[in-house]
Amino acid sequence: MSSVYGPVPSWRVGQSLGIDPICINSICSFNCTYCQLGFIQVRINERRLFVPTEKILADLEQSRWQQADIITISGSGEPTLASNLGEIVKALQKRTGKPVLVLTNGTLLHLPEVQAELSSAEKVFVKLDAASEDTFRRINRPVEGVTLARIVQSLVEFHSRYPGYLGVQMMFTRVNLEEVDEFAEILNRVRPDEVQLNTPTRPYPQDWVLQTRGSHEGVDYPARPLKRITREEARAVRARLRELTGLKIISVYKEEN
Ligand code: SF4
Repeated sequence: MSSVYGPVPSWRVGQSLGIDPICINSICSFNCTYCQLGFIQVRINERRLFVPTEKILADLEQSRWQQADIITISGSGEPTLASNLGEIVKALQKRTGKPVLVLTNGTLLHLPEVQAELSSAEKVFVKLDAASEDTFRRINRPVEGVTLARIVQSLVEFHSRYPGYLGVQMMFTRVNLEEVDEFAEILNRVRPDEVQLNTPTRPYPQDWVLQTRGSHEGVDYPARPLKRITREEARAVRARLRELTGLKIISVYKEEN
């Protein structure tokens, strides 16, 4: 099983080489209702070693990493759960000379060591799908003890020290569409470099299969499609967020950009 996949095209960052520091299962501190991995098999919020850094570097050598614009650490769950994340970031930068992006749900951002490890990456994109604790629990279904308030506070602190490029990814569904003004308040606290407006474009698999971590192109597995917000709704959300924050906002509906 390779811990490296792609490069796959990403609407946010171009050709992206995926690094999966988890790989053995779907493992996350969330269990999002729209997760492209399906129902998360192992739900934890403690850090462990899943894939040794040497294995990732060996898999890298077998990949087409030279064709990638960026190297994205994400994969089969929440990458900050991998206790060797900082080591992986530095090893990838040293070997490839390419920028490294980490996608995270922010549930461990309150830990100083996680903030330090993420600080080595050129880009960090943090998921934020809810503006209230109730919606947070409904959409992200976090493990016990994780709150939206702690994630937002950690994000504000992280951004005050982080020298790289911070993106906030927002997945809009029918559930959180009514919270746009409250989202804007959070964004005004965090002040990220970029806000990414997304909606579920990938189906929800019945079971985890390794290939769901990638683009889903040509993958044949039982899955059900998810309700998206429409182009018009996305346009309205984007306009309102821009009005209230003045931030750069990119949309999965590309012609909005
Ligand atoms: S945070 Fe990401 S990997 Fe975890 S459940 Fe949500 S979408 Fe899936």
